[in-house]
Amino acid sequence: MADIWEEVRLAKTIGIAGHIHPDGDCVGAGLALYNYLTENYNQDGKKTVDLYLECVPEAFSFLKNADHVLTKAKEEAQYDLFIALDSSSIDRLGESEALFSKAKMTYCVDHHITNTHYAKKDTVDANASSTCEVLSDLFDFEKISLPVAECLYLGIVYDTGVFKHCNTTEKTMQTAGKLLSLGVNASDIIDGTFYQKTYLQNQILGRCLMESILVLDGKIIISSISKKIQDFYEVKPSDLDGVIDQLRVTKGVEVAIFLREEAVQEYKVSMRSNGIVDVSKIAVFFGGGGHVKAAGCTMRGSLYDVINNLTLWIEHQLTNGESK
Ligand code: 5GP
Ligand code: MN
Repeated sequence: MADIWEEVRLAKTIGIAGHIHPDGDCVGAGLALYNYLTENYNQDGKKTVDLYLECVPEAFSFLKNADHVLTKAKEEAQYDLFIALDSSSIDRLGESEALFSKAKMTYCVDHHITNTHYAKKDTVDANASSTCEVLSDLFDFEKISLPVAECLYLGIVYDTGVFKHCNTTEKTMQTAGKLLSLGVNASDIIDGTFYQKTYLQNQILGRCLMESILVLDGKIIISSISKKIQDFYEVKPSDLDGVIDQLRVTKGVEVAIFLREEAVQEYKVSMRSNGIVDVSKIAVFFGGGGHVKAAGCTMRGSLYDVINNLTLWIEHQLTNGESK
C-alpha cells in the first residue's frame, strides 16, 4: 500500500478536495483528514493545509473546522501534495480539478469500484463502506481525536444508510465501534445528520414519492424533479438526499431511479439496486460511476429519452441475469 504519510511528511503545502455536491461521506472524510493533519502533522504550523469542498450542507456544519472549508479554488496555488477524497474520477473534483492537476504529488483515497486510478498514488478499497472507513484504516488509532472520530463516524453512517446497506461489513461495525469508544455521540449524529429533515425537505420528499411511477411490472420505480419545481421551492441538491433511499425500499422493486433536472434537458441520475442489477455498469456506460448497488451519472435529452435509455439497460440485465 502506498504510504500517504510519507507524502504528507514531505509536503509543505497540502490541498484536499472531495467531489461535487458533497455528501456526508465526502464532507466527513474531508474534515477528518483536514483535522487529523492539522492536529498531528502540523503542530508547528509550518505546513499549509487547505480543504476544498463546493459547500458544507447545514446538517454537517457542526463538525470541527467546517467553517475553514474553502468553497472557491485558490487559482494561484500550487500544492506539493493534493489529496482527492471519495472521487472516482478526476472530473468529479469540479473546480478543484485544476489544482489537483498542477500539484507536484497527487494521492486519492476512495472506495468506488469504478475508480479510474487517476492519482499518482492511491488507496482505493471497493470493499469499504465509505471513504471514511478507508481513512479510519489509514489513520493511526492513537492519533484520532474526538472531533476526527465524529467526522469519520458521520461518513460511515451516511454511506451505509445508518448501517443498513449491504456495504456494511463486520469490519465496518468494528471500525464504528472503535470510534464510539472515543466518545462519539452516535444518536446525536445519526438523528441530526441522517433522519432529521426540515419541513421543506419532507414536503419535497412527499412530492417526489407521490409523483413516482412504476414500470416493468413494478420492478423499476422512477421519480423526477424539474428545475422549475426546485427553483420554486428553493431546494438544493442536498435537500433531496433520501428520496432515492425511500424509492428503493418500495416492495417488489429491483431498481430505483431518481432524476434531478440540472439544466434544460440535463438530468442528474441516481440509481439504487436491490441485488440483481449492477447499476455501476449502467452509470459508467453513461459517463458516471459509483458502486454495484448505488451509482449515478448525468444524462442529456428529454425526460422520456433518459427514462427509456435507462430502463432498456435495466430490463436487459433483469432478463439476461447479466450486465449488457
Ligand atoms: P448518488 O446517487 O447518491 O448521487 O450517488 C451514488 C454513488 O454514485 C455515489 O457513490 C457517487 O459517488 C456515485 N456517483 C453519482 N453520480 C456520479 C457521477 O456522475 N460520476 C461518478 N463517477 N460517480 C457518480
Ligand atoms: Mn462515499
